[in-house]
Amino acid sequence: SGPMDAVVIVGAGQAGFQAAASLREAGFAGRLTLVGEEAALPYQRPPLSKAYLAGKTDARGLLLRQESFFSEHRIDHLSGTRVTAIDREDRHVRLSDGERLAYDHLILATGTRNRALPVPGADLAGVRQLRSIDDADALRGAIEGVRHIVVVGAGFIGLEFAAVCAARGLSVTVIEAAERVMARAVSPETSQAFRAFHEEAGVRFLFGAGVTAIEGEGGRAAAIRTVDGQSLPADLVVVGIGVVPNQELAAEAGLAVRDGIEVDAFLATSDPAVSAIGDCVRFPSRFAAGMPGGDRVRIESVQNAVDQGRCLAARLTGRPAAYDAVPWFWSDQGPRKLQIAGLAAPGDASVLRPTGAGFSVFRFREGRLSAVESVDRPADHMAARRLLAAAKSLSPEQAADPGFDLKALATG
Ligand code: FAD
Repeated sequence: SGPMDAVVIVGAGQAGFQAAASLREAGFAGRLTLVGEEAALPYQRPPLSKAYLAGKTDARGLLLRQESFFSEHRIDHLSGTRVTAIDREDRHVRLSDGERLAYDHLILATGTRNRALPVPGADLAGVRQLRSIDDADALRGAIEGVRHIVVVGAGFIGLEFAAVCAARGLSVTVIEAAERVMARAVSPETSQAFRAFHEEAGVRFLFGAGVTAIEGEGGRAAAIRTVDGQSLPADLVVVGIGVVPNQELAAEAGLAVRDGIEVDAFLATSDPAVSAIGDCVRFPSRFAAGMPGGDRVRIESVQNAVDQGRCLAARLTGRPAAYDAVPWFWSDQGPRKLQIAGLAAPGDASVLRPTGAGFSVFRFREGRLSAVESVDRPADHMAARRLLAAAKSLSPEQAADPGFDLKALATG
């Protein structure tokens, strides 16, 4: 796609930052501009619902690199700046400050935004979400002095948030429309274990409960009403009901989108001068074969953002390879660490592998290993990543046998 003197990256999050850093590492010598609408230097989001929320790390500790890294590597970071349009014909983007920025190659790394709760009262003061450092700062202040915290959605972020609140002795109730925690992502066995961990820590749950309204008092949230007519006191409501990809910019430029910006195995869009990476893309993956949505997925994880950033930088510097990294993910909930390798579909079979400390659940789709959920079992997680990378499987019987040597199979 022609000489590459200028690369522009839209979105200065985990994926955009990684692409910039990896491009320089691979020797890209042209102009490199990282445009991000947030004010902060690129930072990590995972601690926002964990150590940062708990006050165990500060804003500096979140940064992916200190400021000097960007000048030293000639990465022009335009903070507080939004890309408002793409002109693919003339190869430039338009910025919120009215400027234009020309590119030879454009990388879209726009991430996702939180899904809004579509009920009356969702805009009351005291109704919050957690995505950015600004959200986390606001929440850190808001949890001081509240009496009843209600979390809507028992996904990873909602549960991590609830665990931090419970550890501080705060009253927290989690309302979930499904019948179990993390229902989209993990097996019933893992859901059950985490429900018990949280209940022991003092978190209350309400399952099968859709929210119909948030009721206010003097403009502030006071209670939350559920489908079955219950009303729960709530002076802080934290909504964690999933995300939507930031794909409008791509769609308005005529690029294909469908729950994510569509890319091929090389992370290229239908325009060879435009690529896309991270939470905002839907891409083909062998790990998604046999899933209900077909063999294309959109993945929200640090691993995927980092590995796609690296893969794309390699292609743009002359070492093209299809993206084939094993998906993996972690979630810290109170003292428990959940690690997931692979991609499970809701209908995948589960086999519990009980061991000394913690446990793992091995998931199988059409008889083949699809994913492994490990709870306080880092060795199982690492073995699972190796097995999946090598497309090796084991039988459900082997997985269930505590005497079966997993490590030998993984490293053999
Ligand atoms: P993001 O990091 O979201 O970055 C996208 C950036 O693009 C944003 O800063 C956005 O403002 C900017 N942007 C969007 N549109 C424009 C535009 N038009 N112009 C300029 N800028 C724009 N993952 C894990 O693997 N493990 C965890 O434990 C974990 N915990 C998490 C906890 C929280 C609270 C959150 C919110 C996420 C967590 N994640 C976790 C997910 C992980 O953070 C994301 O998968 C990762 O950040 C994705 O990187 P990204 O670069 O694709 O998107």
